[in-house]
Amino acid sequence: MINGSTVLAGVIGWPIKYSQSPRLHNKWLSVTGINGVYIPLNIHPSNLKESLKVLPKIGFSGVNVTLPHKERVLNYLDIIDPLAKRIGAVNTIRFGKNSEIIGTNTDGFGFLQNLFQYAPTWNTPKSEVALLGAGGASRAILTSLVDEKVSQIRLINRTISRAERLANDVGGPIEVFSWKNIRKTIEGCDLLINATSLGMKGQPDFAFPMDSLAKRAVVTDIVYTPLVTPFLKEAQKFGFKTIDGLGMLLHQGRPGFNLWFGKTAPLVDKELRTYMLEALEG
Ligand code: NAP
Repeated sequence: MINGSTVLAGVIGWPIKYSQSPRLHNKWLSVTGINGVYIPLNIHPSNLKESLKVLPKIGFSGVNVTLPHKERVLNYLDIIDPLAKRIGAVNTIRFGKNSEIIGTNTDGFGFLQNLFQYAPTWNTPKSEVALLGAGGASRAILTSLVDEKVSQIRLINRTISRAERLANDVGGPIEVFSWKNIRKTIEGCDLLINATSLGMKGQPDFAFPMDSLAKRAVVTDIVYTPLVTPFLKEAQKFGFKTIDGLGMLLHQGRPGFNLWFGKTAPLVDKELRTYMLEALEG
């Protein structure tokens, strides 16, 4: 029941109709019994600055930020936390008491939580990681892996200058590789991540032989439509542990829920995954 005490939050993007966040947060609101609502907000880039100013004034406690605003939104924030500054993108905003706009980034957190949930024995300090992609998602993942103190990251991207810029921005034990001969580049790695948009519905398929990875390797794809991408299917052929991208989406939402509604979001479990999948596959 929406009434005068209902807490408002939402997600801003353009277009917004594909966002799964309203389904996720409204499910959590119903499970926790919190008097709140989470609304999809279709905000054109030309209205971004103005919308951010208005939202706290009309009672929003915060918003998620999705494509194409994640980087540009940095220009309009009053406070950017150090992590979001390092990543260079914001996916979660909280509005302060005096309508201050405060941004953070929970994508790297979501990535790591998903990894630890399904590969709890994966050992960060000893790990050699191959990360494919140098876009916005890769920025957050790379930063979180450096903060977890993995021993080496091989960053592989089609546009090598973009990967070099990213490695420079983030800093740490990162080596940049071109898109050629990926099989050789990933040799001996124990974590392989696809953070490109390849394999997503409507994008070209993407897979290559993964037999050069370490035997204990974990392979994860952050693309979650389809849930089992050709990349993950290839990894399964070699018997590697695979982790799909849905968990990252679910985990990244938890800190925002906590900030806006004042209560910890329920844990990410099988029931929640099934509920989210009904919409993705339906
Ligand atoms: P982005 O900033 O547009 O970056 C796209 C990346 O994919 C770049 O590295 C790009 O390489 C690469 N790429 C695109 N087409 C390619 C091709 N034909 N061949 C080789 N490389 C190609 O996108 P993003 O925001 O990082 O998102 C990447 C994917 O992650 C999307 O599918 C998104 O839906 C997904 N995602 C999932 C989650 C989650 O919670 N699971 C969160 C965020 C994003 P270049 O630099 O060479 O263009």
